[in-house]
Amino acid sequence: MDVIKTVREMRVYADKQRAEGRTLALVPTMGYLHEGHLSLVQRAKTEADHVIVSIFVNPTQFGPNEDFAAYPRDFETDCRLLEEIGGVDAVFAPEASALYPEGAGAQRVWVICPELSEHLCGKYRPEHFKGVLTVVLKLFAVCKPHISVFGLKDVQQYMLLRQLVRGLLLDVRIIGEPTARESNGLAYSSRNEYLTADERSQASVLWKAVTAAAGMIEDGEDRPDTVVEEMRTIIAQAPLANLQYAEVVTGDTLQPVTKLVPGIEVIVAVAVYFRCVRLIDNAFALVPSG
Ligand code: AMP
Repeated sequence: MDVIKTVREMRVYADKQRAEGRTLALVPTMGYLHEGHLSLVQRAKTEADHVIVSIFVNPTQFGPNEDFAAYPRDFETDCRLLEEIGGVDAVFAPEASALYPEGAGAQRVWVICPELSEHLCGKYRPEHFKGVLTVVLKLFAVCKPHISVFGLKDVQQYMLLRQLVRGLLLDVRIIGEPTARESNGLAYSSRNEYLTADERSQASVLWKAVTAAAGMIEDGEDRPDTVVEEMRTIIAQAPLANLQYAEVVTGDTLQPVTKLVPGIEVIVAVAVYFRCVRLIDNAFALVPSG
């Protein structure tokens, strides 16, 4: 497994693989790898000849009061985990100065997609997706992948990245991989590390809330307000949980639905704080026709 740190080296490497006729998959991550990340890597291996994992804690996607400085990092363990599962050809781990040569604060070109960023996490993290879209475009420009794999746990991010590719005519296929979960349903997340044992056990309410909500919709409930209320009730069963949002949005535009029209696909999603630790989860549901 090659470890590549500079933009120049990464470009030469990607060009060489492409010239030799290999298809490249990129799995972008912020490191502190867990089963969720590894499931993306496994998927990438089935989709391309050559797998690159990027590890980069992107400063521009964190708000001023968020956890950029405290975000967990362990590069050696990440590399060991990737070696252990095998099949990863390269790790791209640039310094911030490599992706933001003038400094992250001096970035003058941004990718934004206001409509899809309006609700869910975008409403509460106003600069977040601007940072994500911009850094992923940079990673695509440097790593030159044919495909790139993302987790559906971050469903708004996934939808935005598909829009990035469509809207800017990028020659990259975006693949969404289902959420990997702990045995109690809690989605794997690098931030689970911050939780106490009690919080970690209570955090299964996110999964319970979104599965119950998706089940209600598929059983014929047609009022989004009732579905949202059910998610609130389930989250409230965890005394340590503080709900940030519970929403039902359309599966394509991510706009809140006022009516569950037969045949449409919707996403039910929640964000919940345990102290300062923010966790998210979601599920898709198909509104039954007739
Ligand atoms: P992060 O390191 O949190 O930026 O995540 C890197 C990638 O892993 C993103 O595409 C995430 O959506 C994905 N991811 C994070 N957690 C999970 C999970 N539990 N299951 C599947 N994918 C995940």
